[in-house]
Amino acid sequence: MTNYDWIVVGSGLSGVSFARTLAEAGAEVLIVERRDHIGGNVFDAPDAHGVLVQRYGAHIFHTGSRRIFNYLSQFTEWYRYEHRVLAAVATPAGEQLVPVPFNFTSLQRLWPDRADAVIRSLLEQFPAGARVPVSDLVTCPDPQVAELGEYVLDTIFRGYTAKQWGRPVETVDPSVLARVPVTLSHDDRYFRDEFQAIPRDGYTAMVQRMLTHPRLSVALESDGASELRRHPSARALWTGRVDAFFDYELGELPYRSLRFFNTSVDTWRALPTAVVNYPGQPPYTRVIDHSHFSPEIQAGTTLTYEFPQSYSRGMNEPFYPVATEDSAALFERYAERAAASGVLFAGRLGDFRYYDMHQAVGRALTLAESALEHRLDPHQL
Ligand code: UDP
Repeated sequence: MTNYDWIVVGSGLSGVSFARTLAEAGAEVLIVERRDHIGGNVFDAPDAHGVLVQRYGAHIFHTGSRRIFNYLSQFTEWYRYEHRVLAAVATPAGEQLVPVPFNFTSLQRLWPDRADAVIRSLLEQFPAGARVPVSDLVTCPDPQVAELGEYVLDTIFRGYTAKQWGRPVETVDPSVLARVPVTLSHDDRYFRDEFQAIPRDGYTAMVQRMLTHPRLSVALESDGASELRRHPSARALWTGRVDAFFDYELGELPYRSLRFFNTSVDTWRALPTAVVNYPGQPPYTRVIDHSHFSPEIQAGTTLTYEFPQSYSRGMNEPFYPVATEDSAALFERYAERAAASGVLFAGRLGDFRYYDMHQAVGRALTLAESALEHRLDPHQL
């Protein structure tokens, strides 16, 4: 049996970034993956048309960090892709597709008669180009701006958030809604980061290259806890659920899950944008047209309908940590145990944080660097 220096549980971006850094520094690393494929939730695979389908929902890489972009660029070339989203909004005149984040174009489409006056009021209150959380509009002393805030809250956020989180928008952590601020310009990009791109050959290919190293091994369909027991002298990074690591002794942390319905269509770029959001009636929150994530023209595409659902252990996958005061307090108690355990934790599940991909990679690299700095001997890398 190989004498591993490190066992890394989970082959998502967190685990793989960490494992690769340790392997390059000389450690022998085993990655243990529960599923039958690598990549965690960034896993993608081609459909019958040759379009790469992201099996666990759309992942759009964006970061302001040159360091993180350069790091991943060692393992992939990129398709320069700027994410744009439209929301289907019901109006008396029929369904309108408007940009999300809500911006001046959205306003002009939905309030054509009042848009100019409201834009003037907005620009008296906030700098041009600002990205303002909807909650700041709602509480604005200018009545026109506050009215717009209520309208955006009702039209864009209320229905979508009720479906996404299974709870009223008022009870969702404000940081979640602030991810999609109202944009005070015509800029219709979902993200403003300097680096926005999709791996040219897909995420799985990028992760596969990250894993291609003589000191890295991967065990698929394997149980993390059992492997840790089999290699008691190895150090460990755990990117699964932190509460699972401790056998749920303090209770279960809350998650939200998703169900995906895929359908093949014989039109390339069947939707006008990669993602169309449905804040209204349909039971799904959004539809993804995967053909937008590559410049290569194909005969068709796959559309993915995303249905949020409650999470229950063993039945479906934990996609989103649910941030509440109670969950933060429970996580703190697990974090104390984690700190005393000698095992490191990372990733959306290990840190119980709503990380985007670049944040997961950044955290894993920082953790790997500190693990290397604090090494005492080769077996404590
Ligand atoms: N949101 C919404 N309507 C939209 C887009 C987003 O209400 O059209 C809210 C919703 O609560 C969502 C949150 O904003 O969970 C964050 O959206 P984001 O697109 O960042 O979610 P993700 O892509 O991570 O699922």
